[in-house]
Amino acid sequence: MARLVMKFGGTSVADIDRIRNVARHVKREVDAGHEVAVVVSAMSGKTNELVAWCKDASPLYDAREYDAVVASGEQVTAGLLALALHTIGIPARSWQGWQVAIKTSDAHGAARIEEIHGGAILESFAKNREVAVIAGFQGVHGPTNRIATLGRGGSDTSAVAIAAALKADRCDIYTDVDGVYTTDPRIVPKARRLDRIAFEEMLEMASLGAKVLQVRSVELAMVHKVPTFVRSSFDDPENPRPGTLICEEEDIVEQPVVTGIAFSRDEAQITLRRLADAPGVAAGIFMPLADANINVDMIIQTVSDDKSTTDMTFTTTAADFDRACAVLEGLKDKIGFAVLEGSTDVVKVSAIGVGMRSHAGVAARAFKALSEKGINIRAITTSEIKFSVLIEAAYTELAVRTLHTLYGLDKV
Ligand code: ADP
Ligand code: ASP
Ligand code: MG
Repeated sequence: MARLVMKFGGTSVADIDRIRNVARHVKREVDAGHEVAVVVSAMSGKTNELVAWCKDASPLYDAREYDAVVASGEQVTAGLLALALHTIGIPARSWQGWQVAIKTSDAHGAARIEEIHGGAILESFAKNREVAVIAGFQGVHGPTNRIATLGRGGSDTSAVAIAAALKADRCDIYTDVDGVYTTDPRIVPKARRLDRIAFEEMLEMASLGAKVLQVRSVELAMVHKVPTFVRSSFDDPENPRPGTLICEEEDIVEQPVVTGIAFSRDEAQITLRRLADAPGVAAGIFMPLADANINVDMIIQTVSDDKSTTDMTFTTTAADFDRACAVLEGLKDKIGFAVLEGSTDVVKVSAIGVGMRSHAGVAARAFKALSEKGINIRAITTSEIKFSVLIEAAYTELAVRTLHTLYGLDKV
């Protein structure tokens, strides 16, 4: 007997028929004698609708009430799946985050899980042989007793955190693709499914835009060593394929230089022209942005030829763009720049692979290939196992396909 956590995303529970299909996947594992906790997302499109309702009701909404609203989507699917399980003879009950209890921080809308009490669920496994159907994406902030949500895509994190808390043998993330691919298969039909991917690579892929797993879920899987699979809920429930295992680097036999290509459209570029070229200027720009909780990613400062002024370019998320511009415009005289130029019409394309540690010139090949396609690079960052380029959004697909082919990732 093993103990499993099975997570089903929005498309997998999009209507009652699909919820019945999920119940058949759960039945397979229960029939095999396993203890099963299931984590569910809201039906696809539901969370977007709830978010839109909050914004409509109050443009500057209170994040605590936003959480009370958006957490409701998962509550519905948890109850419905428990009902679907009952109809096929499987004992089950639904659990909301606070009932488990999943304790979180008070960062409403993007809360972190701090603690999970698995005792009640383990007891219901032992006493009633009941499947636990847990609402993903939500928890409770203990001191205020308020519902908190974990950020978009957060049910992945609920699943891995619960797997760690229950000391589960495995966490299966069921979604609408049959594993992790070399890039988003919806953009590049030649993308290949990977049998295995290293934790660190998956962490970079997720951070750099591959939304197949929420970043925090990969961090937790890595820290708690939870064997985590990404697999398809659309496989035959009687005979599903194993999907992609996220595992230690050492457990992967053949390691290519580049494992995958990711891209993020949630980017904005800001350039400050003719800044004073003097000590303290960078601090004068980035400290106020940090104080306003605005994350800055790529930074480029040009070396001035006249030694008196310089230009500074950096990126933030598209969501933070307006706020960042407002902060900087407000400090224009203090910082001392001539013009602020900005654009949200940019995308960050990244190549990821642990093999980059031992190979030189990997990024240089990309710069050449992109230039041959007439794609202009606006900014570059590199680190040990990845590099990223910022380009005009119109070239996203061309750039992703070009790099995918360049590094030999195309399906043959
Ligand atoms: P769920 O609702 O099940 O959580 P998501 O939509 O959050 O599903 O994530 C699955 C989607 O992630 C896929 O449909 C796919 O388009 C996208 N995706 C992006 N990059 C990748 C990748 N490298 N491999 C697989 N899927 C990816
Ligand atoms: N329903 C939430 C969302 O759409 C959480 C999730 O699906 O993981 O972001
Ligand atoms: Mg998701």
